[in-house]
Amino acid sequence: MLEVQDLHVSYGQVDAVRGVTLTLEPGQIVSVIGPNGAGKTTLLAAAMGLLPSKGGLRFEGQDLHGLDVEARVERGLCLVPEKRELFGELTVQDNLMLGGFPRKLRGAALKRQMDFVCDRFPRLGERRSQRADTLSGGERQMLALGRALMSSPRLLMLDEPSLGLAPLIVQEILAFVRGLRDEGVSILLVEQNARAALDSSDHGYVLETGEIALSGASAELAVDPRVQATYLGGA
Ligand code: ATP
Repeated sequence: MLEVQDLHVSYGQVDAVRGVTLTLEPGQIVSVIGPNGAGKTTLLAAAMGLLPSKGGLRFEGQDLHGLDVEARVERGLCLVPEKRELFGELTVQDNLMLGGFPRKLRGAALKRQMDFVCDRFPRLGERRSQRADTLSGGERQMLALGRALMSSPRLLMLDEPSLGLAPLIVQEILAFVRGLRDEGVSILLVEQNARAALDSSDHGYVLETGEIALSGASAELAVDPRVQATYLGGA
């Protein structure tokens, strides 16, 4: 579904992603774990078209180079950024509506999609008319996910959904993400929380200083001594 082949992304002189090759099959959760500054956010930004990149980048067989962000959303890609990027002064409902904007949802179609998302996240439904900045951290992450779902993505890219959340809330968010996978949405999950990411994904990649250091089935990576020593606290 997503094929990344020898991808390079630079910020001027800084080579942040250096020859990354990665594959995501339909219906999979693929995680990318690695330390601060490894290039995880940069990889997602390049896949979404927010940064220029060199190398192979294909989605459902189609070359993504040359497609802008909007065209990538139309094809079914969606990114939930690390900082959630919600509009705090707008209501939950208005934030969701903005998620439907790239798909040009209006009228009955917009209402249907909004009801669908609020059914999935009852807490968002209850807080529809509340300002986004009154939500808890977990609810904000749910709103960011709900807003992404407004564009009916086929590949959802999540940048550190666990960031700043209590362990129980992280479990709740990841259970939801697995539910989406089971309904056929493919997920590229970037996480510093290696344990949570490997527990929830089918396949994993370890990114270090812009390069893939290790990859494999998540269950195998979770017992790999190198992953255990560096990312799982030697557990
Ligand atoms: P984090 O978890 O901290 O977000 P990350 O794995 O997502 O880390 P990136 O944010 O992709 O890593 O950063 C990769 C490298 O690119 C780092 O060396 C970082 O300093 C550098 N970098 C990131 N953004 C910029 C920028 N706008 N300009 C210059 N260098 C940048």
